[in-house]
Amino acid sequence: MNDPAQKPATLLKLSHDLGREDRGLAILGEGNTSCRLDEDTFLVKASGSSLAELRAEQLVACRFSVLLPLLDAPAMSDADVEKSLLASRVDPAAPKPSVEALFHAWLLTLPGIDVIGHTHPGAVDQILCSGDDVSRRYAEERRFPDEIVCCGARSVLVPYVDPGTPLAQAIREQVKVFVERENRPPRLILLRNHGLIACGATTGAVLAATLMAEKAARIFVGAELMGGATPLSPQNVARIDSRPDEHYRQRMLKL
Ligand SMILES: [Zn+2]
Repeated sequence: MNDPAQKPATLLKLSHDLGREDRGLAILGEGNTSCRLDEDTFLVKASGSSLAELRAEQLVACRFSVLLPLLDAPAMSDADVEKSLLASRVDPAAPKPSVEALFHAWLLTLPGIDVIGHTHPGAVDQILCSGDDVSRRYAEERRFPDEIVCCGARSVLVPYVDPGTPLAQAIREQVKVFVERENRPPRLILLRNHGLIACGATTGAVLAATLMAEKAARIFVGAELMGGATPLSPQNVARIDSRPDEHYRQRMLKL
């Protein structure tokens, strides 16, 4: 995502890849994608559009400076949130951005996160719509090496909250805890009774994390049905996992 002129086309390709019906990651109007354009703006999918059939005019450029303050504002009505979403557009003729643009905006401010893909994958949601314990194990354990390589050694787990500002606030709270503990940004954020957010520096990293998360979920569910999924030991996870960036904590503390 280094060439700014290529960003819309690259994000469209990711959207179409995530929206492929045969993959079952997002159907109809489900899911959304975004990428950072520059220090001030980012592109996000328009409200109500389809990932599979997303067109260039359905990618909306929004200003961080209008959306980020909503995360610290007192509770707002749905109408006021909608006003802010509309006011954030760089082009007033562009369609309304997704209400989930709020969490995209915040996550895109983190070092190392330039692209986001949010989906509702079938097997991942089988787990996230089950109990707390099973969701926690899927988030914090790893069962095979490529799950660690593509999804990171652990994922963030966020309890169910109302979409919009409350969800963006809950994601911020849980991601801050994760970064404090792990010294790096997450690759995957799991939303109870909702879906998955994959974060990365490139569209390829986001697609890989999403596809591997869904495969890992199928393996987890199947292994549970055959007597219980066996996680890799913490030592084996640590050996495969890459070493954290030593400077990440310092950069995070400036936020
Ligand atoms: Zn969603």
